Amino acid sequence: MKKYVYFFGGGSAEGHMDMKSLLGGKGANLAEMAGIGLPVPPGFTVSTEVCDLYYRSRKAIPPAVKQEVEKNLKKLEKATGQSFGDPKNPLLVSIRSGARASMPGMMDTILNLGLNEKTVAGLIAKTDNPRFAYDCYRRFVQMYGDVVLGLKPVAKDDIDPFEAIIERTKEERRIHDDTDLTADDLKDLVARFKTAIKEKTGHDFPEDPMKQMWGAIGAVFGSWMNERAIAYRKLYDIPESWGTAVNVQLMVFGNMGRDSGTGVAFTRDAATGENSFYGEYLMNAQGEDVVAGIRTPLPIIELKKDDPKAHAQLEKIRHILEKHYADMMDIEFTIQQGKLYMLQCRVGKRTAFAAIKIAVDMVGEKLISEKEALKRIEPDQLNQLLRPIFDPAEKETAIKSGRLLAKGLNAGPGAATGRLVFNSVDAEAWAKRGEKVILTRIETSPEDIKGMNAAEGILTARGGMTSHAALVARQMGRVCVAGCTDLAIDYATHQMAVGGRKLKEGDWISIDGTTGQVIEGKIDTKPSEVLQVLVAKSLDVKKAPVYQTFAKVMTWADAHRTLKIRTNADQPDQAANAVAFGAEGIGLCRTEHMFFGEGKIGPMREMILADTLDQRKTALAKLLPLQRRDFAGIFEVMKGRPVTIRTIDPPLHEFLPHEEKDQRALAAEMGVSYEKIKERVDSLHEFNPMLGFRGCRLGIIYPEITEMQARAVFEAAAQTKKKGIDVEPEVMIPLVGHVKELAHQEKLVRQTAEAVMKEQGVKFKYLVGTMIEIPRGAITADEIAAVAEFFSFGTNDLTQTTLGVSRDDAARFLRPYVEKEIYAKDPFEVIDRDGVGQMMRMAVERGRKTRPGIKLGICGEHGGDPSSIEFCHLIGLNYVSCSPFRVPIARLAAARAALLNPPAAPAKAAKPKKSGRKR
Ligand code: ADP
Ligand code: MG
Ligand code: MG
Repeated sequence: MKKYVYFFGGGSAEGHMDMKSLLGGKGANLAEMAGIGLPVPPGFTVSTEVCDLYYRSRKAIPPAVKQEVEKNLKKLEKATGQSFGDPKNPLLVSIRSGARASMPGMMDTILNLGLNEKTVAGLIAKTDNPRFAYDCYRRFVQMYGDVVLGLKPVAKDDIDPFEAIIERTKEERRIHDDTDLTADDLKDLVARFKTAIKEKTGHDFPEDPMKQMWGAIGAVFGSWMNERAIAYRKLYDIPESWGTAVNVQLMVFGNMGRDSGTGVAFTRDAATGENSFYGEYLMNAQGEDVVAGIRTPLPIIELKKDDPKAHAQLEKIRHILEKHYADMMDIEFTIQQGKLYMLQCRVGKRTAFAAIKIAVDMVGEKLISEKEALKRIEPDQLNQLLRPIFDPAEKETAIKSGRLLAKGLNAGPGAATGRLVFNSVDAEAWAKRGEKVILTRIETSPEDIKGMNAAEGILTARGGMTSHAALVARQMGRVCVAGCTDLAIDYATHQMAVGGRKLKEGDWISIDGTTGQVIEGKIDTKPSEVLQVLVAKSLDVKKAPVYQTFAKVMTWADAHRTLKIRTNADQPDQAANAVAFGAEGIGLCRTEHMFFGEGKIGPMREMILADTLDQRKTALAKLLPLQRRDFAGIFEVMKGRPVTIRTIDPPLHEFLPHEEKDQRALAAEMGVSYEKIKERVDSLHEFNPMLGFRGCRLGIIYPEITEMQARAVFEAAAQTKKKGIDVEPEVMIPLVGHVKELAHQEKLVRQTAEAVMKEQGVKFKYLVGTMIEIPRGAITADEIAAVAEFFSFGTNDLTQTTLGVSRDDAARFLRPYVEKEIYAKDPFEVIDRDGVGQMMRMAVERGRKTRPGIKLGICGEHGGDPSSIEFCHLIGLNYVSCSPFRVPIARLAAARAALLNPPAAPAKAAKPKKSGRKR
């Protein structure tokens, strides 16, 4: 018979940590902790398979599952010596969701389930604490009313209906804090809640505990498809088919008095990665109080005073868990009358800084290998290390002039400046208009995910370092200042008061997520530590600990990758930056960008407007020295690394003015009539320039352009070589679809190279190759490879032409396409492996068949995207080329591609696989 439910507790468990797909992350880790003897309240997990069954049975729990749940509930009663629904000795449980990948706060948990008018009396008798019992009951009705019965805020500025009732009661009783509510007040609240539920939803509150249980389990499965869960899954690529598990677990109480409490912690600092215990707790509190940000919790170190025994035990558990999981863990615990219970553990979310530091430190501590460290750092996380920080001088000036508004918790490092908005809907809308915004909330909830994603930074008035805002911000790489208690935010008027000042929606504000400072107005940002060391060279390596860690990762990455990393750069300074970031060559130097440079557009236009070959040659002769200087500058910076230079690619009209005013000016400058210029521009007009007179087509019709460019390249090469600097030019012909196109251009380039070498009396190596960027080129790659010494995949054009989609016109339908999952990802960002990717694979195979040693690379935008880099690794390219600032990301992505896709071992060397779980 199929097993749907797994029991844990009492020193053993039916599941373990490697069963996440079946038990969800929470369930698998609860089982694991119970299995290694940590104090976990007993319970059972209903597997993720049931979630699927639930939806297939039209949102009903199948009888076979029901039976198994009932059996396990009996077992739990036996293990705890309590009975479910027993008015004398009631068993209370929590109902907790848990998907395979952790989705913080996305699914709703219900605590204290099993309470009703009868059992609450039992709880009072058992604990002799009516206030506690009614506090539990009140929380239960509130959570159940919200999660299962659906009584929640509707509009964006609404407050929670239950909170509204609590506020009203507090006003009536003339009290300020929740803690001042008496047992009778709480009892009264329960009644008011139930009435409100009945009025607003038409549902009676279920008294029967079994009914409560089925309702709650159903609601957890139901929440898998709620809007915010769907939004989260979209954001993090979690497939809908995974489903969630449900955990039913014995309640333990952190709200039983001053000897009880609850907390969350990370086994290391999740913001900086420092190897120190890092957490927060509240005494006399239950469940989500710490995370929700309703009261601002205390740092874990204080627990040493409040409960030294529990603190010591937690320290011990911290080490046990890190050893056991070989990772930084995020834990939840509760102390019930001096006894510690573990309620959750999972691999902890961390900032990019922390991810990198922890991975590197753990290699040093021999907890993990170098390879493992590389697998743990997402390439895009490096982005965060490259992000700007505030210019210290600017910031100091701002503070000195009295613009420091307040200080909160430094929950998500980095610097952000933007305009104030007070809800997520506005944040999204403003960001869509291109505004930079700081989302400012009293506290955030999962409903705010989209707005948080759209904001530069997040600022909250309540909540600690592990509040929802802090957690999500760090994961998204957003700057975050949390728990800034000085802010008095008024959602209704879209204003806030702070430090005697009033700020309104749209005002500029700056937040420093590294220090927690909140500053009025805009502050300029400056490059990160890594950039200061590598690019500006303004910071000493020894004073840059973040950089040092970064450098270690890069060294390891380089040892494991097989792909070379090049960069797309058109200017010496860009090339220098890229080399500082570790680029091993230039994969694409676009010569046309140079034509827009100083002094060059004039002769360029002259060339285009020329009527005769002679006129054109005269203009080209003016361009030659300018281009030569550009190339020489690049060669010098690149010091013998290969440099791929593409001959002119865009349609000529792109270089001409289209406004009458500018055309008249040009006419005057060139001493020709305005009409002539206009006529020429009009004649160059194309209906579909992307497929028009561009690429090698230009060089074939006007060979003198290619000749000039080749001459500029080779003369620069000769000049550089004479200076004693090595050069390795690679001339690349764009938009080739037919081998004869390439052959035509190749001949010109080679003739020019030979001529220059002779004239200058130097020899240098050079290659001639082509871009593969239209389907015919890929299909006939075997023929083209007879001429081309290298291919570089121009995946921007190859995607346009393979998909028949114009990138510039695609915005209107491509985003909806991705939303409808027609394409899983924007094919212009991530290589469409099944379409464009197959085109590439074919070209690689055919090209290598003709010319086994052919050099293969990619220079499209995709060259900096980790998934696309992996694909390039898989089809056996030699290098990827990306923008300078993505070079570190590409280095890591290439290493991970190699590590995650080890070459298949040759058949005879295959050893029998060792069994056993991998830790
Ligand atoms: P989330 O996935 O949102 O973290 P959890 O299931 O972990 O939700 O529960 C929310 C809060 O309730 C946490 O603080 C957790 O520790 C607490 N909690 C859950 N189950 C129990 C229980 N059986 N006893 C006491 N507290 C619990
Ligand atoms: Mg939790
Ligand atoms: Mg192209």
